[in-house]
Amino acid sequence: MVTSAVVITGAASGIGRACAELFAARGFGVVAVDVDEVGLAALTRAQSRAPRPAVAPADPRTAADAGAVTGADSRPAGGPEPRIVPMVGDVSVEETGAAMAELALASFGRLDVAVLNAGIGTTLPWEAPGAIDRLDRILAVNVRGVAIGIRSVVPALRAGGGGSIVVTASSGGLQSEPGNWAYNASKAAVINMVRAAALDHAAQNIRINAVAPGLTETALTARHRTDPASTAAVSRRIPMGRWGQPGELASAVWFLASAESSYITGTTLVADGGLTAHHGVVPL
Ligand code: NAD
Repeated sequence: MVTSAVVITGAASGIGRACAELFAARGFGVVAVDVDEVGLAALTRAQSRAPRPAVAPADPRTAADAGAVTGADSRPAGGPEPRIVPMVGDVSVEETGAAMAELALASFGRLDVAVLNAGIGTTLPWEAPGAIDRLDRILAVNVRGVAIGIRSVVPALRAGGGGSIVVTASSGGLQSEPGNWAYNASKAAVINMVRAAALDHAAQNIRINAVAPGLTETALTARHRTDPASTAAVSRRIPMGRWGQPGELASAVWFLASAESSYITGTTLVADGGLTAHHGVVPL
């Protein structure tokens, strides 16, 4: 039986998949939620071939267990089987929230962490037909989906004495880009929702934080990497000169989920290679 469990939304691809693999490798029971049934099947297939985690993880909620977040790879083998339980569901639907929390309790007997990561976005010309419907959908997944997720997991986290919720926001919630108004609005909204939610749940020992990725190599951004020249052109905008990898974002999520961040709530951890630190104006 696992000693810690996490629900991860948008787990079939990109950053969510990297989170699912990292948490499972560190001994968590994982409920992997996504609309993409094929992607979930690929994740669970790959997981069944993955090495077993080194040791059972310590409880991620307590400062005394902070050491659990480092050195997992160097420990001797012999921990519990990694377990990823897939669940097909749309995060913008309330029933999905209730079902994913129930599935964690049914599968693992507990819930300690939720990674509310599912998100969509695309550039959207103001004059495009159906732009307002598209805005509604982006808000439904990126904002409503996070609100549903928080509401749904809090009772299970409270029942276990507390826990951590990590929301995937975006550097696009802190800055804006031409043509990205709908996505920018949705991610700015979740960043401030996280702050308010953190206040509302601090007394229940539930920490709520966001990670704001910059440009990360996933399916979401594939259109910006159609050829080496366009990939390099985008890389030149990033002070570190390269795109982020999903695993680097999963590490940031892990930090906020674990006891290493035991006194951190209501904040947004930017992981963007310096993108938002730069004012964007070419030096004179
Ligand atoms: P991705 O497209 O690789 O993965 C997103 C996953 O979410 C997919 O598996 C998709 O099927 C799933 N999903 C979409 N709508 C859903 C819904 N309604 N219900 C359940 N699952 C749904 O993209 P990614 O880059 O890994 O994105 C993960 C998060 O990171 C998103 O919130 C995104 O906005 C954010 N983000 C990504 C980048 C980047 O550069 N890739 C930058 C900033 C923020």
